[in-house]
Amino acid sequence: SPEKSPILEVSKLVKRFGGFHALDGLSFHVVPGEILGLVGPNGSGKTTAINVISGLYAPDGGEVVFDNVSSGGVASHKLVHRGINRTFQVPKPFLSLTVRENIQVALAYGGATGAPSIAELLEEYRLKEVADRPAADLNSAQQKMLDLTRALATRPRLLLLDELAAGLNPAELDWIAGRIKALAATGMAIIVVEHLMGFIEQITDRVIVLNAGKEIFEGTLATAVREPQVIEVFLGG
Ligand code: ADP
Repeated sequence: SPEKSPILEVSKLVKRFGGFHALDGLSFHVVPGEILGLVGPNGSGKTTAINVISGLYAPDGGEVVFDNVSSGGVASHKLVHRGINRTFQVPKPFLSLTVRENIQVALAYGGATGAPSIAELLEEYRLKEVADRPAADLNSAQQKMLDLTRALATRPRLLLLDELAAGLNPAELDWIAGRIKALAATGMAIIVVEHLMGFIEQITDRVIVLNAGKEIFEGTLATAVREPQVIEVFLGG
């Protein structure tokens, strides 16, 4: 079958904080329907990559191209309308609004044609029971699911998941893995940053291993864990 063309292409991306290079020439691509894992030790630049691609930070060098249009340095709210959305390691819902109202805000703000309905999102992400409770009442797993529904309400074509699985129990992990795969099956491109290797193995088609803001490996996780340079950055310290 013919190779799909990438929906996202990152080339030689650089992001500095002071003199420190959090991203130091990172290049990779994602195609529609693909689940790509970004893995690497703490501080290797995974979240920074998500933050630059989602428009939270402007890059200091290199290029980000989404859907054939340059998107580096474009503000996140504009990228939401172009089709990029993300979840956060620490979700920040409107705490005094109900779950339903939080999703309504996302729909009103970024709801694209064909966006899922509130009822669907509540049902699919197990938030029906708490729909009319303030977001402040949710446990951390429910806050993560609310954050995901907020992102999905804008019908992204590229979804960036930053530690969505952290803190979920094994049954919840299995369930959310199924949900993420179902989203990818609709053609959505998904990038996941996650520390749980079993979860990464379960859902990703391919991984990029980062170290010090650079790619040191690209391929399946099963292959990655046999590569000496990958083993070294995880175990060698
Ligand atoms: P990872 O997600 O792989 O753990 P990060 O992308 O969060 O790594 O961080 C990469 C490096 O950049 C770390 O050394 C971190 O301290 C630094 N960094 C990230 N964000 C900022 C920021 N806003 N200001 C200063 N340093 C930052």
